[in-house]
Amino acid sequence: MTAEILSVGTELLLGNIVNTDARDLAVALSGLGIDVHWQSVVGDNPARLRRALAVAAERAELIVTTGGLGPTCDDLTKQTVMDFFGLPMVRDARAEADLRAFFAGREMPENNLRQCDLPVGCTPFYNSCGTAPGCGVRTPDGHVLVLLPGPPKELNAMLLLSALPWLRQFSGAVIVSHDLMCFGMGESAIETRLRDRMNALQNPTLAPYAKEGEVRLRVTVKAATTAEAEALMAPVIAEVRETLGDIVYGMDVPSIEAVVLERLRALGKTFAAAESCTGGLLAQRVTAIPGASEAFAGGVTVYTNPVKAWLGVDPETLDRCGAVSAEVAEQLAVRVREKLGADYGLGITGLAGPGTDGVHEVGTVYVALATPDKTEVRPLALGARSDRSRVRALAVNHALDLLRRELEKNEQ
Ligand code: ATP
Repeated sequence: MTAEILSVGTELLLGNIVNTDARDLAVALSGLGIDVHWQSVVGDNPARLRRALAVAAERAELIVTTGGLGPTCDDLTKQTVMDFFGLPMVRDARAEADLRAFFAGREMPENNLRQCDLPVGCTPFYNSCGTAPGCGVRTPDGHVLVLLPGPPKELNAMLLLSALPWLRQFSGAVIVSHDLMCFGMGESAIETRLRDRMNALQNPTLAPYAKEGEVRLRVTVKAATTAEAEALMAPVIAEVRETLGDIVYGMDVPSIEAVVLERLRALGKTFAAAESCTGGLLAQRVTAIPGASEAFAGGVTVYTNPVKAWLGVDPETLDRCGAVSAEVAEQLAVRVREKLGADYGLGITGLAGPGTDGVHEVGTVYVALATPDKTEVRPLALGARSDRSRVRALAVNHALDLLRRELEKNEQ
């Protein structure tokens, strides 16, 4: 079934509010296997709404409107839509009882009752978070209409409790996606490796999305049931994992730090970090996850040389190699591990820019890992044209990736 989402509200056109209802609806409808081919926005104006409805009716089988169901004079969606499709309305007894109960003990302006008028033969969607009910109805000319309220809280509750269960009868399919999260190879390199497969695949489809230093590969399939969808996706997921190897750090996971914390928790281990150029960014990202203290022993911002020396970095090494060096990164990882009594230590030092130190290019970073029996340093050239925040974000990703790979080895 093809659908159009028609959002009604002058505030949307003026840019006063963001159309989050359309986004939420699009996600929900595609999850039901309904193809949203169009989204449009129209102001609170009956003539223009009629024109938008004419266009929508011509190109979509299902029209879902949002907004304009309230009691005020600019809430004209329901009346206009029903006039357009020739559907008479009748007062819904339960909606009226709910509304009178809502106003119990207070005077209710009569115009409020307009909210309780619903098209004859519809399925009412009662509003668990507000007063205006929505509804689902078939029109005489064979369209399916769904009317939903504008306030996002009301819309989402009504979607979940009433509209989606009602719409399921028209779907006959589900759309399921899985995200393979990759770190360590750019989007174009991944595309090059997978291009032929991506072009050949139709159901499931495979599409890359670049995120700060990472790539999300989304596998999406449309099928009759979730089980069938999973079965269709499994070989594609296995093939992508085989092709990309260990750059795939997880499936349907929120971030690399979440994966690292989860693995550490499973192993009953902890880690600590000493950060120079990232100034605590790694600690901030890790501690943004609730319960991080189970696996994160702590972090130290070792931004200046005296603090590096305080942590235990050998002053002679600092003099001889400079703060931006593999040797210092390694010592940071070793010392923070020892000092905070963690199983693993991470050290990060580098030049985030924009100024240079006259020796290194901006983006020169060393990340190091210390384990109970060895150390490992990853030298990075994160690009002289990268800005400071990108260098810092990538440095954190690389440090976490070092640890993630080490933990994977331990699991095997
Ligand atoms: P009410 O009973 O509150 O009048 P309604 O169904 O008539 O609800 P509107 O009057 O169109 O809805 O919008 C009410 C509020 O809901 C808007 O002021 C806005 O804050 C929010 N809203 C409306 N449409 C959207 C949308 N598409 N996306 C996000 N928020 C929206």
